[in-house]
Amino acid sequence: MPDKREQATETMVGSKNIEKSRQLTDKTLRKIDQLSMRSSPQFYELWYRYFDNDPELVRAIENHEGELDESTCQKIYNRYLSTNVHDNAILKVNGQVQNSITDLTNALGSAKLATSEYGESLDDLTGKLPKDMSIKELSILVSGMLNDTKKMAQKNQALEAQLDNSSKRVMELKEYLESAKKEATTDGLTDISNRRAFDKQIAADIEEADIGKTPLVLLMIDIDFFKKFNDTYGHPIGDQVLRLVARTLIGNIKGRDTVARYGGEEFAILLPSTPIKAGCNVAEMLRRGVENKELIDRSRDKNLGAITISIGVTEYLGGEDPASFIERADDALFEAKKAGRNCVCWA
Ligand code: GH3
Ligand code: MG
Ligand code: MG
Repeated sequence: MPDKREQATETMVGSKNIEKSRQLTDKTLRKIDQLSMRSSPQFYELWYRYFDNDPELVRAIENHEGELDESTCQKIYNRYLSTNVHDNAILKVNGQVQNSITDLTNALGSAKLATSEYGESLDDLTGKLPKDMSIKELSILVSGMLNDTKKMAQKNQALEAQLDNSSKRVMELKEYLESAKKEATTDGLTDISNRRAFDKQIAADIEEADIGKTPLVLLMIDIDFFKKFNDTYGHPIGDQVLRLVARTLIGNIKGRDTVARYGGEEFAILLPSTPIKAGCNVAEMLRRGVENKELIDRSRDKNLGAITISIGVTEYLGGEDPASFIERADDALFEAKKAGRNCVCWA
């Protein structure tokens, strides 16, 4: 446990960071506005990093010739910030957007509060006016107060409009980010997690298993004789079967379990807090679930029979790396294929 002094220092550093990030967000949004650009995550990131003094970007932007329009900015983005940092950028920008939303909401709240407090203090004042005031004095006082009130209201309206606008833009950005994040982690064909998401999840689940000393099971699943199925019925129907298998797997697991398309016609499932025996039971249930699906080609009203899967099951051994964990599940899957397919083997 850190002592009180450390905690206080941490809080100070934390609030400094938030303040810095708020200022950068402010400058970024204003710049995007000034250049009449879309507030896409890319442009947001570009300008955020520019104001954060990323040396390469500052050089690129300051040395460029001609107008700074969207296409120029996109080129600069592609050159300096694309792909390899994209994932981190999405995460980072996401955090910043969250901070901005909190800040904006707070600012909006206090602006509204200020107006109503001012109104209340006026009420108060009217109750305390000296009785012997002349009409003229009173009218000067009132017109002065009215003036102040108007100014205050105008100021607040402008502030509210500005904050409202920024909130909208930040929300827009948040939506972009959410869809970008989903796109980056979802398999386009089956709409379940992709390999990239799986790689991240297995690392997270392993960490959790190590910390909590809880069991973790991995299932590697492969469709049997799928090449022949494709050859017989065609690739598009094969694609539909992949979707059906994905839906069947997803429909039969729960909670914090992860189903991912590992590659081609292979799927992987992570079952946290699950001992090997329970993992084998889940695998058997999934195997049966797929086997019992009737495949009908509706366009030709034709029964395509059934499809089967083979499954390898293994339990995480404390301290091992993801690669050896996966390899053992693969070995078990290989055993299931050798044993005649449409079955579950565990290692
Ligand atoms: P096994 O029982 O040993 O797994 O045999 P298999 O035919 O399933 O295995 P193999 O590795 O020989 O072939 C895998 C097939 O999966 C070949 C490929 O056409 C098919 N496949 C992989 N990805 C897709 C896809 O996205 N759509 C379709 N329709 N088929 C795919
Ligand atoms: Mg395969
Ligand atoms: Mg196969």
